[in-house]
Amino acid sequence: MNPCTVQRNTEMEYYWKRGAYRPPYLWSVLSVLSDAPLHVTCDPLGGGQKRGPHNCGACDYEIVRGIRDYSLNADRDLICALLDTRCGCRQEWEYILASEKSYCMPLTR
Ligand SMILES: [Zn+2]
Repeated sequence: MNPCTVQRNTEMEYYWKRGAYRPPYLWSVLSVLSDAPLHVTCDPLGGGQKRGPHNCGACDYEIVRGIRDYSLNADRDLICALLDTRCGCRQEWEYILASEKSYCMPLTR
């Protein structure tokens, strides 16, 4: 799985610069990996950066490193432990999932 990163001079960058697109939360990446029926590898390009899949900045490094480790060792317990990481942005992500409309502007950047 390759979570989206905003590349330069693309239509996605056009929308991202206007606040109309936000790369996925790392929580979403963890959720997809956790729910997958098979081992799915993932190396989030630009993970933790504003153009790449990211959370709040405080928890990004640990989660990106864990996702890369999981891709190599297929340890599902690691993904479960990462999903239990305590960070304030987890509640923000849950709010976004419940409140954001897919046809509207993203609620966070
Ligand atoms: Zn966080």
